[in-house]
Amino acid sequence: MSYDQVIITVDDSSTMRRIIKNTLQKLGFSNVLEAGNGIEALEQMSKSKIDIIITDWNMPEMDGLTYVKTVRAKDQYKDTPILMITTEAAKDDILTALKSGVNNYVVKPFTPETLQEKVFKLLGIE
Ligand SMILES: [Mg+2]
Repeated sequence: MSYDQVIITVDDSSTMRRIIKNTLQKLGFSNVLEAGNGIEALEQMSKSKIDIIITDWNMPEMDGLTYVKTVRAKDQYKDTPILMITTEAAKDDILTALKSGVNNYVVKPFTPETLQEKVFKLLGIE
């Protein structure tokens, strides 16, 4: 299968970005953009339309929560699916993320199958 949706993976760890990108490419997504923090991601999003955002929580410059809130405030991206990748599995943190506009989350470390399941669900792929 190949999918034409544009995905952006936002993480300050280049290793984590590579893992996510490889997983997505194996699933058939060839349009995967990368950013090292929220500011870089917003810059990319002003140039290309993004269909789904996969973002880390802890990042320098602009963390995941601030990034999510900024994205949600933009008309163009108010409904774009956002998946947060986090080490914060505490209930309060998850609630905070969901209230800020995150649609779903993955707790590190995660398997390729988990990532696939969440991404497909958010994009409505059966
Ligand atoms: Mg990080």
